[in-house]
Parts: sequence; structure tokens; C-alpha cells
Amino acid sequence: MNIHEYQGKEVLKQYGVAVPEGKVAFTVDEAVEAAKSLGTPVVVVKAQIHAGGRGKAGGVKVAKNLDEVRTYAEQILGKVLVTHQTGPEGKEVKRLLIEQGCDIKKEYYIGVVVDRGTGRVVIMGSEEGGTEIEEVAAHSPEKIFKEVVDPAIGLQPFQARRLAYNINIPNELVNKAAKFMLSLYTAFVEKDCSIAEINPLVVTGDGNVMALDAKLNFDSNALFRHKDIVELRDLEEEDEKEIQASKYDLSYIALDGNIGCMVNGAGLAMATMDIIKYYGGDPANFLDVGGGATKEKVTEAFKIILSDENVKGIFVNIFGGIMKCDIIAEGVVAAARELGLSRPLVVRLEGTNVELGKKILNESGLNIVAADSMADGAQKIVALVK
Ligand code: ADP
Ligand code: MG
Repeated sequence: MNIHEYQGKEVLKQYGVAVPEGKVAFTVDEAVEAAKSLGTPVVVVKAQIHAGGRGKAGGVKVAKNLDEVRTYAEQILGKVLVTHQTGPEGKEVKRLLIEQGCDIKKEYYIGVVVDRGTGRVVIMGSEEGGTEIEEVAAHSPEKIFKEVVDPAIGLQPFQARRLAYNINIPNELVNKAAKFMLSLYTAFVEKDCSIAEINPLVVTGDGNVMALDAKLNFDSNALFRHKDIVELRDLEEEDEKEIQASKYDLSYIALDGNIGCMVNGAGLAMATMDIIKYYGGDPANFLDVGGGATKEKVTEAFKIILSDENVKGIFVNIFGGIMKCDIIAEGVVAAARELGLSRPLVVRLEGTNVELGKKILNESGLNIVAADSMADGAQKIVALVK
């Protein structure tokens, strides 16, 4: 789960991570009020959307007086920002962060992630802050430094200092930077983050080290123990189909392709996406209906796929084990009856109650193309959507 920058900064503040003072605003008047109450000569007006790259897209503006705050707030609120992370359709700005302007001496990068290679938390740093870290990784990987954290003892002060020296934090600020990293690490672990990215971390003219941006991502599987974080969820920033899927406890991720997939089991879902790609198609989603899905759940899953306008055809690929083929068939038929089915549907069923499942589908009157195997099904659906 993602949250906004201003919310991330509030969370980090609880752990002693230094951030500029700031306030959220939903209207232009609130933005001006917020700027007044901050009382600093320079404030920054920042678009709050669940995507980075706002600065380059005109979503971060430095205002030198209240008139400028008003002008920028008017400009940015309601604007559709297109950044390298939003996709071409962009995201509409509905909230602003009004923040103290900061006297930046230099920008750095700090990120905490779970590294699947080592199976550990890794803290990364670079003196190339403010730019996309992916670019730094591609062009000057030697400028990215890492510390792998031993989970038994956590991030050690010497590691934080070593990272600070490696990224060329000025000597007299190394201890402040190390304290910053240790606090950030504690926040990461205690809040079950999957990413905590500070880009930029800055050294200021008056000798402080603080986070000017904050991107926090949380492990959804741990949200049950973080009610305070769940409250920060902004449904308007999320894909409608993914919200619907999470209500029914379906693992669903929307993708850019045009073949809707309904599969049981994450492994089979991945393999299905791979084989569609292999035969030259593009999956429109990842969808795992899970093991013990009910007819209602399957119906809902199928409706979510049908509600995606990009979907030009559907591939149902089920290996019935715990999940029975007849339940899948009933769900597909129920959803198709309710919403109508004008797009091609290829079904491959195998396993428990397969004969019954096929019978339900055959007698439904729906126009279904049967497939004998996964490869056969993938080839058929790819051909049908072309
Ligand atoms: P994004 O990563 O989405 O572009 P950032 O929050 O990183 O957004 O802001 C982009 C740039 O704007 C920063 O790299 C920094 O140079 C500047 N900036 C952001 N916040 C402030 C602030 N409070 N004071 C001064 N400059 C800022
Ligand atoms: Mg940034």
C-alpha cells in the first residue's frame, strides 16, 4: 500500500527523522492559510499524488510570497500531472503539501528496501540525489553504496556512518546523517514497510540533514497490525478494479495488455502470463482467485476482468485441486449472464470435477472456445484478440 508524501513525513517524524514543517491543503484558500501559518518567507507548493517525478512535471513550485502560493495552488490543484511514474493518462492532483522552503546545499539519495537476493533489508545511498535512482544505477552504478542489515541486530551505527562517508556527506554532518539513517531504518522495520525512499535527502545551509521527499510503501500482508497506516489509504489514488478485488480478497494486479486472465494459484497465474507473452500476446492483469474460492468470488473476479475496457479477450486457465472446476464454471456463467459476454473467451479446465465444469459451460449457451492445454489455450486467445 502506498501513501502520500505528507503522510509519509508525518510517520517518519514520529521516529525522529528530520523533515521540514508542512501542512496538507485541499483547496487554494487552505493552501494560503497553511503558508501563512508556517510563517517562513519561502514555501514550496507540492502536488500530492501517488507517483514520483512531480518536480519535472511542474508539480513542485517554490513560492516567495502568499500571492505566489495562491497562483501555484490554483495552477496545480485539479491539474492532471503526467510523470514517468503515472503512465500517459496521468493523475489528477487533489491535495497539496505546503511546506517550508529549504535552503538546499546538496541533494543525496537514501533508500531502504527488502532485497530478495540476500533476503535482507538493504539501505542504499548515493550522492546523486534528486535524480531518478534507476538512471544512476544505469549510468554510474559505482555511485550507489549499500549496507546489508543483519536482522538479528538491526542497522549498526558504524554501517550508517560508513554509508554517510561513502556518499560524501560533509564530515561534520556524518553523525547527523547516521542518526537520520538509523531512525529511518527503525521506522521501516516497525511499520513493516517494503520501501522507504528519501530522494532527496538534503544537507541544508544551516547544517541540517533532512528528508525533502518521502516515499513509503507498506507490505499489505502486515497491514492488519497497523491500523494507523490503513487509515492513510487514499482510494482515489488506486485502480478501481484493484479496490474491488481487495474487497473480495482476490489477488489482482491491473496490467497494460488486452488479454484478461482468470487463474487459480499465483504460480499458475505467472506461468499463464508468461505463455501469453510467449505466443505474442499481452496480459491485461494478474489474477489469482485463490484456493477455496466460492462461486460469488469467482463471479466478482470475472466481473472485474469484464469491467476493464482494454480487455479484448479472456483466458480462463484453471487447474482444479482445492478449487473445483464446476465452481469456476458456475462463476463464469453467472458473471457472463449478468454483464453479457461479447468478447472471446477461451477456457482450459483440468482437475477436480472437470467433467462437471465442462458440462456447465457447454450447457450455458455462452460462446466458449475450449482448450486442451495451457499452450493451446494461450495460442487460441492470442489469435482471437488479434
Ligand atoms: P519528485 O521526486 O516527485 O519530483 P520532490 O519532493 O523530490 O518531488 O521534489 C522535487 C525537487 O524539488 C527536489 O529535488 C528539491 O530540489 C525541490 N524541493 C522539494 N521540496 C522542497 C522544499 N521543501 N524546499 C526546497 N526545495 C524543495
Ligand atoms: Mg523526489
